[in-house]
Amino acid sequence: MELRTLNDLFMHQLRDLYGAEQQLLKAMPKMQAKITSEELKQAFTQHMAETQNQVKRLEQVFQSLGVEPEAEKCKAMEGLLKEAEDFMSQDMDKPVMDAGLIASAQRVEHYEIAGYGTVCTYAKYLGHTQALNLLKETLNEEKTTDEKLSMIAETSINMKAENH
Ligand code: FE
Ligand code: FE
Ligand code: FE
Repeated sequence: MELRTLNDLFMHQLRDLYGAEQQLLKAMPKMQAKITSEELKQAFTQHMAETQNQVKRLEQVFQSLGVEPEAEKCKAMEGLLKEAEDFMSQDMDKPVMDAGLIASAQRVEHYEIAGYGTVCTYAKYLGHTQALNLLKETLNEEKTTDEKLSMIAETSINMKAENH
């Protein structure tokens, strides 16, 4: 498709996010299965449910804009997930695995925060209020998840990875 306007770019960015969320949703159970810490497992489980909802929310965004939901393969998410997969396939102590999974997950969250930040700015400028409100909700979930992961790492997992 030809990209001529900011609105075209907005659609392109939304399709990338729609692809990224679906790719992530598919990979999350494999990461979840490698976690030992109960606290981290719970955080992952919660964000898996949120991610499922974020896919639906993007469908509502497309709907509010009067277009069919369409996903584009997100090559960055593919790379982040490949890196996480390579990491998980290595032999390591369990607390180190937990700490490394947090690092992988936070890379993903930061990518999502960048993407949703951009589409929120576009939606605001273009006056797509309904889309903006939906996208803001997701942006907040990604930010909260990122903060929660930092908190879990800093209050327990990093210590366990160093002393166990
Ligand atoms: Fe997400
Ligand atoms: Fe992407
Ligand atoms: Fe996320």
